[in-house]
Amino acid sequence: MLSIHDNSEDSKHLCDYEDYDENASDAADWSDESSDLEEDERSEEEGVSVSEEADGANPSKDNEDRTLVEVPPSHVTFLDIQAQFESQWQRTPVPPKVHKIYSITCSKQHIAKFDRYQAEVGQRIGLANRNIVRYWHGTTRACRVGDNSSRLNPCSSRDCSLCSIMKWSYNLPVRKAYARFGSGIYTSSTSSKAFDYHRELGGSKYGALLLNEVVAGNPLCLTDSCPDFTQLPSGYDSVQVIPGRSLVYDEYVVYTEAAIRPVYLVLCK
Ligand SMILES: [Zn+2]
Repeated sequence: MLSIHDNSEDSKHLCDYEDYDENASDAADWSDESSDLEEDERSEEEGVSVSEEADGANPSKDNEDRTLVEVPPSHVTFLDIQAQFESQWQRTPVPPKVHKIYSITCSKQHIAKFDRYQAEVGQRIGLANRNIVRYWHGTTRACRVGDNSSRLNPCSSRDCSLCSIMKWSYNLPVRKAYARFGSGIYTSSTSSKAFDYHRELGGSKYGALLLNEVVAGNPLCLTDSCPDFTQLPSGYDSVQVIPGRSLVYDEYVVYTEAAIRPVYLVLCK
């Protein structure tokens, strides 16, 4: 089951981070999670980050079923994610109440890509140092998927970044707007920080947030903005933004799509 460990004593990366049980979703037994999703290519040019919105999905690729699987409120996974959401909320007022949590299965092709990538990172720096973490991402939802237990299918709207990510995972953004650490995929361990970037265009009364697995690997720790950043120095796998100087909240940036996949949708109010 999911558990959150404080690995801050691990001084190898000189950064604090949270780790989790990567087999958690496999071990979840609240339902017979869908396993018959079909393979497909993903080619939409969606650019998504905590600080940069998406272009939207490619409708021609939106013909697959991606049924969400609800996590019962009494299940330990729900309670773990709820605790993570609330404990990592860093501004007033109090965190919104978690309404629903769903397990996400994006394309099998992407999951295989993610698994290969994390294995490669593990081979290079050691399995224990892959530093796979669970971070938040807020984006635009143009529908009401997940609002209730009968709304389990991501939509095909080009405006709905959330559904595109849930089906295909993330695309590296095409450089088009200012981003503090360049054209990467942004997440944060701070739920309130990610929540600042969610937008509800579909009339829902709930706010949606994605919880993701991120292969942080060996992070390059930065304390100031670096908008021209395009490539990690050799030996690094991500940027970890350390708050305290010019930045208030932590952020984590990866520069390859293979380093991240969405795993849970959290709705709150
Ligand atoms: Zn949608």
